[in-house]
Amino acid sequence: MASFDFLWLLLPLAAASGWLVGRYGKRRRQSAAAADDLRSNYFKGINYLLNEQPDKAIEAFIKVLEVDSETVETHLALGNLYRRRGEVDRAIRIHQNLIARPNLESEQRSEALLELGHDYLSAGLLDRAENLLQELADGGDYRVQALRQLIDIYEQEKDWNRAIASAHLLEKATGNHLGPVIAHYQCELAERFRESNEVESALEMINEALATHDRCVRASILEGDVLTDINEYERAIRAYQRVEEQDADYVPETIERIQYCFRALDRPREMDEYLNGLMERYGWITPMLALADLKHDRHGIQGAIEFISDQLRRRTSVRGLDRLLELELEQSDAENGAHVSILKDLTGELLSDRPIYKCLHCGFPARLLHWQCPSCKHWNTMKPIQGVEGE
Ligand SMILES: [Zn+2]
Repeated sequence: MASFDFLWLLLPLAAASGWLVGRYGKRRRQSAAAADDLRSNYFKGINYLLNEQPDKAIEAFIKVLEVDSETVETHLALGNLYRRRGEVDRAIRIHQNLIARPNLESEQRSEALLELGHDYLSAGLLDRAENLLQELADGGDYRVQALRQLIDIYEQEKDWNRAIASAHLLEKATGNHLGPVIAHYQCELAERFRESNEVESALEMINEALATHDRCVRASILEGDVLTDINEYERAIRAYQRVEEQDADYVPETIERIQYCFRALDRPREMDEYLNGLMERYGWITPMLALADLKHDRHGIQGAIEFISDQLRRRTSVRGLDRLLELELEQSDAENGAHVSILKDLTGELLSDRPIYKCLHCGFPARLLHWQCPSCKHWNTMKPIQGVEGE
């Protein structure tokens, strides 16, 4: 089965060999041998492929290339196909062999270099890929592709400064605005400053991120976190509350953090107002549960139970029901408790492996918020899931 997907690729090669035979037909005497050679190597290659001997097939096709540089495109495609199938070593051999051809046109050479860079990237040989791609990124037809792949490498290496520099070059080369992504690189740098307790540098970098992309939710949340670290709770609350204007879908991320700050400031009434406002505007579960906590603090367990029951009459939510059962269990006697406990196990199980976020681009589900989707590598595409089991 493995060989058949290669065969369509070889059609142009077959055509080229036929064409070569035709062309050389006019000068049959001097060139018939070369054409025969080409055909024989070509058919040998196909035979090897059919017999699942890809290395011998590659040898045969490389010989075809030596006779005829018209087949460069086919070799590029063959190399790419090997790479896509995960046979990176073979892809590297084909592309290296192409680059070694002295009669290769400069554009073909650049294309082969770019593909080889891609092979190295797939094989995890980031240094080698980086060297090749930097050469291509300096100029020429493949500059844009090379910059894109370089950015991929810098992301994998977490070399955020270089990622920022290359993204700026790519913006210039394509005219496309990359602010939302560059702001994430700046947030990554800010997080490093935060980890090493360089608060001022962290806040400066966060400001840069917001200047790059004023709707960068991550920068606002990070600013709130840094300010919370240094007990600047009022400023932290303002940073967190900015998220609602930037992208309201992420507000649930900030609720627990804001709740922490209001507690530290001992301002339960303001927290209450804020949560009520969110519930009115969005009807979400997270602010409802936070409000239930406040009721619990102020009016005891029965107050919290009544509040949640009332809310659940208006909309169904597994998370709401789970909390309600938890509270019921706390105040049940042994006999009733056994029944509630069965239900509580059920809601607990429903929630336990449930993803909380989903990538809008590829559908990847996750329990943690990733700013870059682990699957498709897009930035800003993970969002909290809405619905009965979610927010
Ligand atoms: Zn994705």
